[in-house]
Amino acid sequence: MSRAKLYSESKAEELPALESARSMGVIIPVRPHRAGTYFCSTVIVASKEPFGHVDTYLLEEQGEKVVQGLKLAMSALRAEQGIVAVKITGAFAALDKILQDRSNIRAHLLEDFYPASYLLLNSDLSGDDCLAYDPETLANLYDARERGIPVTRKLVSCTGEVAKPSIIIAPLGTSFRELIELCGGATTDEFVILNGNPMHSDVILDIDTPVEKGTSGILVLARDHELIRKALMPVEFVIKRIKSVCTQCGFCTELCPVYLTGCELTPHTIIRQIISGTVSEEDCILSSMLCIGCGLCDIICPVGLNPQSIIRTIQQSLRDRGVSQNNEKERGKPLNMASVRSFRRIPTQVVINRLDLQKYNQPLWVRSCEANPDQVELLLRQVGSNPVPLVRVGDKVSEGDLVVRGLDPGDVTLHASISGTVTLVDEKRIIIAA
Ligand code: SF4
Ligand code: SF4
Repeated sequence: MSRAKLYSESKAEELPALESARSMGVIIPVRPHRAGTYFCSTVIVASKEPFGHVDTYLLEEQGEKVVQGLKLAMSALRAEQGIVAVKITGAFAALDKILQDRSNIRAHLLEDFYPASYLLLNSDLSGDDCLAYDPETLANLYDARERGIPVTRKLVSCTGEVAKPSIIIAPLGTSFRELIELCGGATTDEFVILNGNPMHSDVILDIDTPVEKGTSGILVLARDHELIRKALMPVEFVIKRIKSVCTQCGFCTELCPVYLTGCELTPHTIIRQIISGTVSEEDCILSSMLCIGCGLCDIICPVGLNPQSIIRTIQQSLRDRGVSQNNEKERGKPLNMASVRSFRRIPTQVVINRLDLQKYNQPLWVRSCEANPDQVELLLRQVGSNPVPLVRVGDKVSEGDLVVRGLDPGDVTLHASISGTVTLVDEKRIIIAA
């Protein structure tokens, strides 16, 4: 039996490290899996972009730990090769040195295009079946497996309109308010927070929102910044604008990275159906499930529309109706886009300039300061669909104690991120005061 056959028969339950890794951070599913079955010949370490400060910091400062985590993931997934993809030459040199004696893991220097990681993951280099992890997930996997240390802290970058943009080591449940204060405070009165990749992040209006396992970076922006204005635009208004000014030029499709990897995701035809008010091509609408939310279609649209928000709204409504990314129909026949792909890549700097974020893309003031909050708010939704608190109000806990577990398959666990007393337990959160 060939190894490839073996992978194709690997069931999820045979991969014990996978779920434990998921509890540590984010797994990025690269290709749709058939239900319950994982195909994995390659594990890739991919950084978030743009503004992937935390990933760069980890690869430069804790490369050995990330590589050890990668080895654990490869072993659990029975993957033959590992690739650590980096854009920064300093990080590449450090990793190349670490990887000198490891024949099945190598560093790969990405070209500076957006979204570079996605383009790599869908190239010949990675092979057909690969999984991608962010560096922090792998570092956490190593800590949990080899050192018995659960995830209680997160590295979070805090940039944008703050006095001292920094990377902060924050206990889970630390408020964004505390992060901003540690960075010297906001430099503008009316601000909002983008949580995650600015191309497709949530706009956070509540400054007391807590850090979760998936939080990697916040960007503080003035409320009247164009990015915020677009992100807060109601979808009904987006549709009205699209109906009045979309010229059907097709640029959004021509530069869509998913389309360029051969998938039949064509944003302009989805938009055309919105304009006509009919769903004449069901497969086209289903292809919305393939959108990775990179936001390039918004950046490239010559009349300033934001097709991404329409496509993601359709995607969410399909998800709510139980459509999954595994549906073969969504994928359609692969298109051969290899001949044009290299001419249609967008440099990351162009993306940052178009978003008017260039002044925030600077070296950070402090690369690792620690937050010491008086209290933390642990959101139960991080555990999964069926979280069960294991503590009551008044209980004393120490950092690392198990405080929530999940009942459903795929649910994970949550540990106290500071030592103290439990002051609140409800269906949404646990609050611990130091
Ligand atoms: S790029 Fe803009 S104007 Fe052109 S088809 Fe797409 S949404 Fe319409
Ligand atoms: S956000 Fe736009 S460009 Fe990016 S994958 Fe989705 S449709 Fe394509």
